[in-house]
Amino acid sequence: MDERTGVESDQGDRETGTAERRRAFVALGSNLGDRAANLAAARVALSGLPGTTLLAASRVYETAPQDVVDQPAFLNQVLCLETSLAPRELLRAGQAIEQARHRGRGFRFGPRTLDVDILLFQGVESSDPELTLPHPRMFQRAFVLVPLAEIWGWAVGMPDVDVEGLAASLARDQAVRVYGGAKA
Ligand code: ADP
Ligand code: MG
Repeated sequence: MDERTGVESDQGDRETGTAERRRAFVALGSNLGDRAANLAAARVALSGLPGTTLLAASRVYETAPQDVVDQPAFLNQVLCLETSLAPRELLRAGQAIEQARHRGRGFRFGPRTLDVDILLFQGVESSDPELTLPHPRMFQRAFVLVPLAEIWGWAVGMPDVDVEGLAASLARDQAVRVYGGAKA
């Protein structure tokens, strides 16, 4: 019985009932080479991972670089995946996809052909530096929150955060704009 709705559930334990396939929001970024092609390749590769389905993709946004400003503008996009992979398996898969796009060994916050970050993973919080969840800088970045807000309707088992409100307030100070009307 769900205490709030009074609805009987045949699922028993809600946590274990959803453990098979969980949702994850993943952020893509690129500011070198054919940026749109890099994002497209990442979408295809992530969709093709074992036990993984691409549920939703935000529009692609173009963002001026922030931490290191003397570099080309980024394209950014957020995806919602459903996956039976463990968080760490998804992290490793994302890193392999980055490598496959010849991501250089540049400096932190510097140019990259492809960056794949896990923003949120259903039911998981972690302070491990190798995989921090929620992603430690996501709530300060309009280029993450604006696209995330577009597909936040797909959120299940995510932190109770006002993503739309935060995105709107960050977008007042940080310029993010839809890139060429490009859709996934
Ligand atoms: P950044 O994305 O912060 O600009 P990198 O892509 O080079 O920088 O990532 C640096 C490290 O961040 C990686 O070695 C990875 O293990 C770690 N990391 C910690 N939390 C996450 C996360 N949620 N998603 C992706 N990488 C993460
Ligand atoms: Mg990264």
